[in-house]
Amino acid sequence: MQVNAVLFDLFDTLLRINGGDAFYTPCLEKLYEFFSENGVDVSFKEFKQVYFEVRDELYAESEKTLEEPHFNLRVSKTLQDLNYDFDVTSPIVIKGTNIFADEFMRYVSLDDDALDVLRKLRGKHRLGLISNFAIPECVWKLLSKFNLEKIFDAILISAEVNKRKPSPEIFKKALKALNVDAANAVFVGDTLAFDIKGAKNVGMKAVLIERNPPKEILDIKPDRVIRSLKELLLTLELWTQ
Ligand SMILES: [Mg+2]
Repeated sequence: MQVNAVLFDLFDTLLRINGGDAFYTPCLEKLYEFFSENGVDVSFKEFKQVYFEVRDELYAESEKTLEEPHFNLRVSKTLQDLNYDFDVTSPIVIKGTNIFADEFMRYVSLDDDALDVLRKLRGKHRLGLISNFAIPECVWKLLSKFNLEKIFDAILISAEVNKRKPSPEIFKKALKALNVDAANAVFVGDTLAFDIKGAKNVGMKAVLIERNPPKEILDIKPDRVIRSLKELLLTLELWTQ
């Protein structure tokens, strides 16, 4: 096949989140501290419980609509359920989201092979990024921190387009921005349900980078399974022969 573009997922594909969900409690503690300083008078236990209720409700909604509301909505709804009336545009909400994101960033590192592999691919293919994330500002900060910003010809973040993987819309938008056909594009990601399913549905070739043992058995078959980004180079060589 002719590979005109290679597109990547971000988290646990190019960037690693250290310690699994270890970031969550410290992030929520920072958020809680900030709200406490700003007059929100509830216990951390209550705050955390309401936050997770709101999050799970929004997740369930997203699963149906494949939309991605900004994290500010989650923060604002949490405060509203605690009887503090701050809407999504309130500076307290926006600052709270930033505080959560800054703490989260401390847990994120660049995959050891990412930069080298991307640089090698850069000369031969157009490069794209499609990330499911509710805080786009945080993705941009991370891309800049790890010098990845300029390497891609197209960057799509779910909360910026209000569509998340596996919706065909976000994949098609990326292909359009790269000016390539799905049949000449390869997607690389670590989740079957979002990355592989979404990419295959629009007709792209899909490579699964196996980071963790699969949590669920899904009837979705990637075209190739790799265990490190380096292996991608060989896969692409074989496909383009
Ligand atoms: Mg991922």
